[in-house]
Amino acid sequence: MKRARQTGNTDILKGWKDIGVYLGCSEKTAYRWWKKRDLPILTLVSRSEKAPILASKRALDAWLKGGIEHVLISSSTLTVLDKQERLLWSHEFPHALREYRPEETEWRLRIVDLEKTGERGVLFAARFLSASTPDILFYFSAEGKIVWQLEAEPPLLKRDGRPFERAWTFKHVAVATNGKEQAIWAALGNDAGWAGCVLRIRANGTASVHLANAGFVEGVCPVTLPEGDFLLVCGENNDFDRAFAALLGAYDPSATSVSGERLVYRFANSPTGQPRMYILFPTTELIRARKRPYGHALHITEHRDGVIIEVETGEGGAHFRYHFAKNLEPRYVFPSGNHEFIHDDLEKSGAISHPWDECPELNEPLSLRIWEPSSGWYERPVPWRDNPWKEVLAPKR
Ligand SMILES: [Zn+2]
Repeated sequence: MKRARQTGNTDILKGWKDIGVYLGCSEKTAYRWWKKRDLPILTLVSRSEKAPILASKRALDAWLKGGIEHVLISSSTLTVLDKQERLLWSHEFPHALREYRPEETEWRLRIVDLEKTGERGVLFAARFLSASTPDILFYFSAEGKIVWQLEAEPPLLKRDGRPFERAWTFKHVAVATNGKEQAIWAALGNDAGWAGCVLRIRANGTASVHLANAGFVEGVCPVTLPEGDFLLVCGENNDFDRAFAALLGAYDPSATSVSGERLVYRFANSPTGQPRMYILFPTTELIRARKRPYGHALHITEHRDGVIIEVETGEGGAHFRYHFAKNLEPRYVFPSGNHEFIHDDLEKSGAISHPWDECPELNEPLSLRIWEPSSGWYERPVPWRDNPWKEVLAPKR
C-alpha cells in the first residue's frame, strides 16, 4: 500500500531544491527560470517564501523539451520559434499590425500555459495599423491554433443607453499566474472619449467587466495578499480630473469607480459593486504649470514588498513615483526621471517663479484623496522619501 501511495505522488516535486535537482541546475537557477522564463510551478498560493512550491515532472519535462521560446512580430505575422530558434509555427493576420515599443511588446505578448496542460501557448494583444480594425486578444495553442479570440468591445453603454464608439483599445494586459485559477486582467480605454474599464478574462476566453471607470485604465497588477487575490489598477478619472489608483478584490462583484458631480461621466449599465479602495492623486505643481488637468498614471509595477505607481508630471518621462504596500497603503513619493529638468525649463519660460532647489512643493507632504466603502472620502498625507536627492537641494556654497 505504501508503495502505491508513493507512485501516486511521483509526478510532484516539492521545493526549489528538488526542482533544481530534477532540472540539473541550482535552486537559484530554477527560481530565476520561474521568474524570467515561465518555468511551470504549480499551486503557488503566495509569493512569500513560506508558500509551498510544487512542480509537476511532466510539466517540467514539457518545458525542458522546448516548446515555444521566442515569438517575433513582423508587419502582419507572428513567428514562433523553439529554444534552438527553429520555426514551430507562424500566423498571418489579415491586417497589418502596428509597430510596438519594446516595453509594450512585453505585455502584449506572453508565452503562457493558460490551460495548465504543461504546454505553453501564446497570448497576444494585437493592435492593428488601421484604427478601424478593433484590438483583439488572441490565445494560440502550443501548436499555433487559435484557441480563442476576444475583441476589445466591453458591453458598457453611455449614460443615454447608446453604445460607445468602436474605439476600445487594450492599454495593458497581465496574467495572474498564482492564486486559485489563471486569470487574465486587461486595462482598456475608449480612444473616442472618456471611458475605461478592466476586464477579467478566464483561461477559456470568456470575459466580464470587473471595473467600469470614468476614465482610461492604464495599468493592472494582480497581487496576492494574506487575505486572498487582489488587483491593483491605475489610470485617470475624468469625473474628478485626477489620476487614480484602485484596489479590487479579484473575486469581488463587478464594480464602478466612485462617482463625482459630473453626470456626463456615467454608464447606463454601471456594475453595482464597489472598489475596496479608490485613490485620487494630487494635481501637482508641474502639471498645473503645464496647464494640464491631471498627470497620467501610466504604470503600476510590483516589487518585493510593495508596488510603485508612476504619475506623469511632465512630458518625456518626468514623474512622481508613489510607493505603496501591496494593499495600497501609501508609503512615500519621490520625483523621478526628468522632473527636475522640466522644472528648470518651466522656470526659464516663466511658468514657475522659483528654482528647483527652492521648490516649496517639496517642503510639505503631498495629499492623497482616498475613498473606502466604510469611511467615504478622506485626505491622507504621503511623505517625500528621504533620499540622496535631498542632499542635492542642500544650500549651495
Ligand atoms: Zn517648484
